[in-house]
Amino acid sequence: MQIAQHTVVSIEYTLTNDEGEVLDTSKDTEPLAYIHGLGQIVAGLEAALLGRSVGDAFQIRIAADQAYGERDPELVHTAERAQFGGDDPEIGMQVQAEGPDGAETLTIVAIEGDVVTLDANHPLAGIPLTFDVTVVAVRAATKQELTHGHAHGAGGHDH
Ligand code: ZN
Repeated sequence: MQIAQHTVVSIEYTLTNDEGEVLDTSKDTEPLAYIHGLGQIVAGLEAALLGRSVGDAFQIRIAADQAYGERDPELVHTAERAQFGGDDPEIGMQVQAEGPDGAETLTIVAIEGDVVTLDANHPLAGIPLTFDVTVVAVRAATKQELTHGHAHGAGGHDH
């Protein structure tokens, strides 16, 4: 069976940046399961998987605009250290905040004196990403999975 709209696809993947550092991998857990065609994985990877079959293995480098998007400088904010209450802010720490589109995750990227700089860009925004992918399963999605909008079973939702 080939990967097409509304198939449930399981992949093993390893994600690296241009320096060859591993940013994420399914090898430590179980294969990732997703419903094809719903934008559940980054656009460049979804496009590259269309028409593949079980056992296909490939590597693809995806530009930032087809992955997690370009970095938006407007999403970088500053705050006063005192706004963190008792928590001592540290570079790399992630905090939740209410943004215009609901809850967003900000990462502390700089601290100078009492000024803390926070970045709401996705941590992988602006970075070309290389995926090493192996297709491990392809099947038709069930009606229930399409209603729920996610894959069930191994690598998907359990409920
Ligand atoms: Zn469900």
